[in-house]
Amino acid sequence: MKKTGIVIAALAALILIAFVAYDGIFNKSVSVDFFAMNTVGTLKITGKDADETAKKIEAQLDLLDSDLLSRYNENSLLFKINSGLETENEELAAYVRTLIDVSRKSGGAFDFTLGAISDLWDFGGNASIPDSAKLLQELSHAGYEKISVTDSRIVSADKNAVIDLGAAGKGIALDKAKEILDAQNVRKAVISVGGSVLCYGEGDFTVGIRNPEGNAGEYIAILRTNACCVSTSGNYERYFEKDGKRYHHILDPKTGYPAESGVVSVTVISENGLLSDALSTACFVLGVEKGGELAKEFGCEAVFVTADKKIYATDGAKAMLTVETEGYILAE
Ligand code: ADP
Ligand code: MG
Repeated sequence: MKKTGIVIAALAALILIAFVAYDGIFNKSVSVDFFAMNTVGTLKITGKDADETAKKIEAQLDLLDSDLLSRYNENSLLFKINSGLETENEELAAYVRTLIDVSRKSGGAFDFTLGAISDLWDFGGNASIPDSAKLLQELSHAGYEKISVTDSRIVSADKNAVIDLGAAGKGIALDKAKEILDAQNVRKAVISVGGSVLCYGEGDFTVGIRNPEGNAGEYIAILRTNACCVSTSGNYERYFEKDGKRYHHILDPKTGYPAESGVVSVTVISENGLLSDALSTACFVLGVEKGGELAKEFGCEAVFVTADKKIYATDGAKAMLTVETEGYILAE
């Protein structure tokens, strides 16, 4: 009896060791910090191909920026399109087509042709309030209606309009990462690029909504989601203050000045990275009511944090949301 017990215990231990080893081989986890698209990112991947996948994603995102989306890299396609040197690219044309749709449905609150105006503000560099005459002049060249797309051609009716994909590039990066993950042996991944996060694979995920008055990593609410993309646009990302007033990087295309909709951040949840990113910017400009309607029109959910410390959420988002910080209340 005693002997049998020992044998069973030894067998059980062996099976356990074998299982742990098996799981160790098939469920490797990696965590990598990287820099891409002018911002910091993190990759957390679990699965047999975790290492290889992380390397592939990092390399792809680098290329996405340098070859396609960057407005400043002379070798990028967007640079060439903005300079009138190139018009053809199927992939970029598809992104622009979606962005025209977001621009239209937002009534022009989203506009991906504000590049020259963003440059005048220079939020990423030596930011200051631009000369109003210069601002008006650049504004006269902007306007998404001037951009048209056929199958693979992107054509501008104004050679001085400057396409800027700053509001959507990080979301596009998530869609690219997802394509790579789909082709690899990966169980679960969380990939963040700036304020956009891809939750990929099995089970639940938690994504924090940042405290607009706090530091990165301090949250006022938590979203519990399944696999999806979550993007946040906030007035705390890039800004400066002058005479007690905050000037931030999300612009109202009607005026060329920072959007003032009473909102300090908007988080959009979508299956699609490009949409979550573009809509978070669009909803920021539109504010709670119209922004909520726009998100729903695209089948997405949204959470708005307002300057008076209220949190508004679409019905689907409410079901995912837990408010964590005193002083912030979930509005009915
Ligand atoms: P972040 O870049 O901090 O993630 P967003 O996704 O909201 O934030 O994008 C903001 C960027 O989008 C700005 O830096 C600018 O390049 C561009 N942008 C600013 N205002 C608009 C707008 N109304 N519509 C589209 N793009 C905009
Ligand atoms: Mg955005």
